[in-house]
Amino acid sequence: MSPFNAANNLFGTETLRIHLRVSQNKEETNPPLSMSLPPATTPVPQPIFMPGMSHAAESPAPAPAPTSAPSAIPTQPQGDETPSDKNQDTSSSGTSLPRLRLHVQDIAHPGSSIFLSSVNAATVLSSSIESIHKQLYSQAPSSPPPTRSVTLILRDMDGVAYTTGSDLDSDHKEIHFSLRYISSIAPSSRQSAEINGVLLHELVHCYQWNGQGRAPGGLIEGVADWVRLQCDLAPPHWSREQIPAKWDVGYQGTAYFLEYLEDRFGKGTIRRMNEKLRNERYEEKAFWTELVGGPIEQLFEDYKKTLLKGE
Ligand SMILES: [Zn+2]
Repeated sequence: MSPFNAANNLFGTETLRIHLRVSQNKEETNPPLSMSLPPATTPVPQPIFMPGMSHAAESPAPAPAPTSAPSAIPTQPQGDETPSDKNQDTSSSGTSLPRLRLHVQDIAHPGSSIFLSSVNAATVLSSSIESIHKQLYSQAPSSPPPTRSVTLILRDMDGVAYTTGSDLDSDHKEIHFSLRYISSIAPSSRQSAEINGVLLHELVHCYQWNGQGRAPGGLIEGVADWVRLQCDLAPPHWSREQIPAKWDVGYQGTAYFLEYLEDRFGKGTIRRMNEKLRNERYEEKAFWTELVGGPIEQLFEDYKKTLLKGE
């Protein structure tokens, strides 16, 4: 039943061995693993979830021959061109950063110029990772998955975005972001924040735990949007008042519920939940009872009552 088995090995070790350097190589990205996923967009929860992926747009097609040289913008002063695994790059605030790459598959696409003029890719990626660390890994013993590189691929595709491990190694992540979607963001004053929000959501998938592949997809998507919510990047169409059909409906519906749990059980509740998803295989009843003292369904009923009362 669970679609997560295939990714039980998503996060193998606790050792964080990551780098950042300028990437200007011309090698083509390997085509991602072939997967069939239903169409989905940011606000629409998808019925099927595959760990490490979200906002599935289409079965990733083999990457076409490069039409333009991949580009990358450094986020840090460049050090060793061939860093060893022992060297870690850190952000100005001390967060360990993976190697970050930007790959624009079609520089002539209108979405490409919107992206490049709306955000500084280096800044937005590194600051998003810092935000994720702040929300999910700010206190020991919480520790993130050993993500070693993140390649952001801008390409013409349906949907919004999705994240996957690379062919070679699930510690190397690829975020595929739709140029068509970027070019459709309206009004133009929303472009920067929406790009930032989608990237943050996808980056959470590069850095979250999944209960050894057993956590509900809606919870995984909810955590990603919860981080987006904490960073004040909720798009205007999200509504806190809307009553979700179920607690793990995913996306903003679950994100607001997680926000309720954080309010009710104290700051750090979601961080501790994510940490618990690192340490153990997700078994719903025991998981929530151990974490917050009761079954999640009961908490969801309590939550719905607060919504009905307009609290
Ligand atoms: Zn997602």
